[in-house]
Amino acid sequence: MYEIAVRMTKRNHNAFVHLLGALEAQGFDVGEILITKDFERILESRPRAVLYSFYTEELWEIEREIEILKEKTNALLIAGGYHATAMPKHTLRYFDIAIIGEGEEVLYQLLTFLKRNSFKLTKELMKIRGLAFYLNGDFIFTGFAKVDDFTKFPPYAECLRYIAPIEISRGCPFACYYCQTPYMKGFKMRHRPIPQIVKYSRRMKDIRYITPNAFAYGSPGALLRIDKLEALLKALQPLRKEGRKLFYGTFPSEVRPEFVKPETLELIMRYADNRRLAIGAQTGDEMMLKRIHRLHTITHVREAVEFMLEYGIEPVVDFIVGLPGESEESQRRSMEFMKWVMRKGGKVRAHYFMPLPGTPFARCKPSPVSDEMKRFLGQMAAKGKVEGSWTNQMELSKKLQRLIEEFYEEPMSYNGQVRSVC
Ligand code: SF4
Repeated sequence: MYEIAVRMTKRNHNAFVHLLGALEAQGFDVGEILITKDFERILESRPRAVLYSFYTEELWEIEREIEILKEKTNALLIAGGYHATAMPKHTLRYFDIAIIGEGEEVLYQLLTFLKRNSFKLTKELMKIRGLAFYLNGDFIFTGFAKVDDFTKFPPYAECLRYIAPIEISRGCPFACYYCQTPYMKGFKMRHRPIPQIVKYSRRMKDIRYITPNAFAYGSPGALLRIDKLEALLKALQPLRKEGRKLFYGTFPSEVRPEFVKPETLELIMRYADNRRLAIGAQTGDEMMLKRIHRLHTITHVREAVEFMLEYGIEPVVDFIVGLPGESEESQRRSMEFMKWVMRKGGKVRAHYFMPLPGTPFARCKPSPVSDEMKRFLGQMAAKGKVEGSWTNQMELSKKLQRLIEEFYEEPMSYNGQVRSVC
């Protein structure tokens, strides 16, 4: 019999693995939590609280589960993650409590409180920062939860067998208008210390990391600190000698194009095992790069691709089609740029613009995708030259637009107000 259950999914796996590590480090007995990807097990064990963490794009998948849980159990339903933070009032249509912001400390405080108080939602919860809930019909928001130093928590719980790519850096100063990361994690990049990264990387056979920009390790975010980056990669070499493989700057992370230079590529060749790197171009139109606040140029992307090819590293370049304010001419420029990347020997990953809550583009409409672009992407995908699920994302994007139109609310954010730019 478990009192608390974690509804683990493929997409929230990494987040929960890290949160469970933080709970254990604060003294919570994580052995008494049911952690499962099997929804039926949660129903069978009839817990008193069930934890979810999800992105807005997953909302339609979990709606049904929530209905069943409400029908068959009396569990308190708690949600964290990007949707809960950006749209707490909407989240509370389904859940009893929304966790707002960085979860490590607030989750510990909340679960400890609930265990001591028979899982009752009372006004005492107003003392815990980082929550939203309804009390006697009033919407209560106790403030955005920020964790000053996320590295005081290990990435994994000692007593659990779960592992995930380690979050080595958090926060991003670039504030691209379509991205949720800086509004959820702050503009300043913070990093795990090297000894901690080395210690926990030992648990992985294939070593992978989570970071908004793997080449910005050790810097406040916008500058390259080659000394710190090299120190990290060097420190990981004994693990490679023991037979592990190190994947750096590739799935599930990527690197910013202007950080791809001979000196960073030298480090990859010398210290890492991957021979592909993922970079975001997003568009082939200089004016669009400014409009989406990418803060790099087309030249940066071109140079990054050429440098990578010189070093024998395969460039994987992300593009977003349908960005707000994109004209047919902008799309033609993106197409030309994609063709150039492919001719050079790189891979293109195509995405469709999705208005994500909590971002400056949340209320912006996608631009129509020209027939020429659709034809081009279709043909390239058939030849295996373009990856990415942009066609599915078109459907999802429509759903997101409808949701935001109907339930728009000013999002809670790490940095205060999020300025809409539509
Ligand atoms: S897209 Fe990347 S660089 Fe831009 S804000 Fe998000 S994490 Fe930062």
